[in-house]
Amino acid sequence: MAVRLVMMGAPGAGKGTQAERVAREHGVPRVSTGDILREAVQAGSPLGKAAKAVMASGALVGDDVVIGIVRDRLARPDAAKGFVLDGFPRTVVQAEALDESLDHAAPLVVVDIEVPTEVLVSRLSSRRICSSCGWLATSGATVCEKCGGKLVQRPDDTADVIRERLRVYERDTQPLVEFYRRRETFRAVDGDQTPEGVARDIAAAIASVLGAKR
Ligand code: ADP
Repeated sequence: MAVRLVMMGAPGAGKGTQAERVAREHGVPRVSTGDILREAVQAGSPLGKAAKAVMASGALVGDDVVIGIVRDRLARPDAAKGFVLDGFPRTVVQAEALDESLDHAAPLVVVDIEVPTEVLVSRLSSRRICSSCGWLATSGATVCEKCGGKLVQRPDDTADVIRERLRVYERDTQPLVEFYRRRETFRAVDGDQTPEGVARDIAAAIASVLGAKR
């Protein structure tokens, strides 16, 4: 069965990596609002121009804007069978808009990757991404293992902005976790273990939701 999944977790929880893996395994697209917004910033489109300063400060882009982006993306044919959402929804308003846009053909599985705050801070401040392909580097690497490109710090991975993103997460997104926690399709997994361990727990969480619904 194709999966409709919302991958939740604070900045640095490993959402992107895990979302990518689940999407590949299930043959559905990964839809990352962070990536879509960063691409718009790179391209200098009107959306990118509007989002650039907001993202650099660690604040959230407006609900209407990201809701529009996700609506358009999920309307494309490759998302008809399923999708993995990464970085959306981030507020209760966004979650309500998502509920409204979905039919009831398949359950919406919600997985929250839980990681202690001090671990998040240390992961974010040490992480580097490839400036040419966007690959998330493994720690200690000096060049990208995918394309040999230069590794750089993401502009919002500096100490001040990390603190602000975690504060915004606590304030705006933690209430959303509580909103979803009451649903039968919600699962929390321990994100403070190896990526393989987290992946195993996520696969089991998804199977337990889909199995229960069959
Ligand atoms: P992280 O989860 O590590 O903070 P993302 O790549 O998901 O990184 O998001 C980077 C930035 O993009 C956010 O700090 C925010 O400014 C913006 N953004 C991404 N998704 C959303 C969303 N659903 N709502 C509002 N802003 C968003």
